[in-house]
Amino acid sequence: MDGISANDSSALKNSASGLAAPHYIAAENSPRLLLVDDEPRLLSSLCAMLGDRGFQMLTASSGSETIELLGKLQFDLVLLDLRLPDIGGHEIMDFINAKGIDATVIVLSGDTGIEAAIGALKRGAYDYLRKPYSREELLKTIDNALQQRKLENENRSIAMRLESSEKLYRYLVDSSPDIIYTLDQEGRFTFVNDRVKQLLGYGSQELVGRHYSVLVHDDDIERARYVFNERRVGERASRNVELRLKSLSGEDQERTFDNTLMTISFNSMGMYSLGKEIVNRKFFGTYGVARDITDRKRAEELISYQAYHDILTDLPNRILFKDRLGLAVIQARRNRAELAVMFVDLDRFKLVNDTLGHVKGDELLQHVSGRLKNCLRRGDTLARIGGDEFTAVLPELRDRQDAEIIAEKFLESLRQPFFLDGKEVYISASIGIAVYPSDGDSIDELLRHADIAMYYVKSQGKNAHAFYESSMLDASYQKVALEQSLRRALEQNELEMYYQPQVDVLTGEIVGAEGLMRWNHPERGLLTAGEFLPFAEENGLMVPISDWMLGALCRDLLQWNAVGGESVRLSLNISPHYLDHGDFFDKIRDALSRFNISPSQIEVEITENVCIRNPQYAIEQLNRLCQLGVSIAIDDFGTGYSSLSYLHRFPVHTIKIDQSFVKEIQRENGHFPVVMAIISIAHGLGLNLVAEGVETKTQAQYLEQSGCKIMQGYFYYQPLSRLQFLELLREKRAISA
Ligand code: C2E
Ligand code: CA
Ligand code: CA
Repeated sequence: MDGISANDSSALKNSASGLAAPHYIAAENSPRLLLVDDEPRLLSSLCAMLGDRGFQMLTASSGSETIELLGKLQFDLVLLDLRLPDIGGHEIMDFINAKGIDATVIVLSGDTGIEAAIGALKRGAYDYLRKPYSREELLKTIDNALQQRKLENENRSIAMRLESSEKLYRYLVDSSPDIIYTLDQEGRFTFVNDRVKQLLGYGSQELVGRHYSVLVHDDDIERARYVFNERRVGERASRNVELRLKSLSGEDQERTFDNTLMTISFNSMGMYSLGKEIVNRKFFGTYGVARDITDRKRAEELISYQAYHDILTDLPNRILFKDRLGLAVIQARRNRAELAVMFVDLDRFKLVNDTLGHVKGDELLQHVSGRLKNCLRRGDTLARIGGDEFTAVLPELRDRQDAEIIAEKFLESLRQPFFLDGKEVYISASIGIAVYPSDGDSIDELLRHADIAMYYVKSQGKNAHAFYESSMLDASYQKVALEQSLRRALEQNELEMYYQPQVDVLTGEIVGAEGLMRWNHPERGLLTAGEFLPFAEENGLMVPISDWMLGALCRDLLQWNAVGGESVRLSLNISPHYLDHGDFFDKIRDALSRFNISPSQIEVEITENVCIRNPQYAIEQLNRLCQLGVSIAIDDFGTGYSSLSYLHRFPVHTIKIDQSFVKEIQRENGHFPVVMAIISIAHGLGLNLVAEGVETKTQAQYLEQSGCKIMQGYFYYQPLSRLQFLELLREKRAISA
């Protein structure tokens, strides 16, 4: 036999590798044929006929052999004899169909009966050749069969590729984070991807055929019409239009909408059929992508809210206030109406803040803003524009009395105590009011004038309101300017310590000096402490100013000592603020040791306010100072409530009779029981005694006769500059020497 037997599978290998007889040389991807016939002669003639066609060929001479080969290898073509000794050709074809084997069958049969042919064709044979057949006939049939297989294979792979790319795009579209959709010319959905379910609660199939307006928030319908109905393409395709879409509530399929609105940015583009000329193109719908930007919108809203609101109190801030005021002014101008601007500043808030701490201070501000807000009418605006500064605009004023009523309500609302940490805290406010148009017709002018009126209230004792008057301008302007330049004064070294000697009237010697602060104001000349320190207290400048004071006093004291003033005691004034500040004791101790100054040369003057405010803490600090060797004097003795009771609880060395008692001494032989009482208390407790503000000979004599030996006042010396005081010390030493 010339063919290769099924058992001889090496023949296949050989032909593939080109080592077999030249007849069977075939490329590995050339068609593979299975030739089936039980007659060896016919089989070999078949092989001979096809030998030069480059096929890979295997032969089988029985049904079982055929089935075995079909199970093992893949064939393009089976040339099948129907009549085989063991298993017939029809059965083999049944086997091929049952197993889904992809091989084209050409039946070669000697059977002349039509039945056999029909049976073969029914079973899917490609063709039926009756023996004997001509070589041409056979080759043509084989060629046709192979050609058809090739076409079918190509089709199949194209279909497969199409299917998988369709699947891919479908996957990409459905898993997109955006809603992707197409609309027809009428604006009805023709396609929506699955994302719509997740974002809006609609099934994509449910939307197909429905008009887009079912999704669009009522207020955005007009804009939506513009986005979708305009027939745009290319450059003119609309982009990023923000629309709010309604989302379906919950799981239930009822057509109810909740108020959850999503802001969606749209990208839409008209779709045109593919005509060659642009003019021929026909609009047939809209394609678009809708992105959920709800989170971004919320973030933007929050950011812009924070830019226009005070975070602590949630009130409008300065920027928003000015905006509202601007609008109110425009409206008032148009309606020829009046409006009021209020400036509300809390009194002594700094003190509360410094005493209770910032956290409690913030809490107080929140409570205050809540109470103030409750006093307003609809349409009024309250804002917080600084630490403890609030402003209000009252549009549509009937008359000034309206504003007055609200201001009084503000003050009244603050009269009830606040509770912070279980403690009762009292706070009041000073309110300035400016009215449009009489007090100004621009927002800046109105605000400035309300501010000036507020400062006027402060200077008149606080806790009240006042309307702006032009006469306030001068005084207030000076005070405002003062506050600002005080900060500069510290930086530019415009402050200076003056010293007022304390005289022992028995010996005429200078036994001490009180340090008093002065400000060399660049325009207004020398300012006394009383003229600017109260502002420093109000504006939180007391701590840096006191720090400066400590250093200056120590430097100056070294110079005294250098000119023989070692026995002169220095009295320094301590602000309540400074004493409340935690490291007060450390600061004094460090300063003294740095300058190598003996604590015994120092006396600290405190007022009774200190003791009342935070007695426990004050006592602790003062005791530590005492242990260091510093003495303590009670300043302005007799003016506070609890002078006597505190004397027992404090390590006090000296009391200073307040000027107001001294001032009353006007007749030499009069009777002044308060002065007498203070003097006898000092003697009784073994304390030093200093009379302050002694201006006249009469006062000096009365005090001396009553038992007070040490005097301070204009009658003896004015407060002296450092140089004047040094000069005085030198003179004294010269005299005693
Ligand atoms: P103070 O401690 O009662 O100071 C006495 C005030 O009376 C001083 O005013 C002083 O110049 C003034 N004075 C002295 N002799 C007479 C007199 O004979 N007649 C009259 N009418 N007044 C006299 P000044 O310097 O304006 O100080 C006012 C207050 O400012 C002081 O009251 C003190 O509480 C505070 N102060 C002054 N200097 C400092 C300082 O360096 N640090 C601190 N923390 N407070 C200071
Ligand atoms: Ca003093
Ligand atoms: Ca005093």
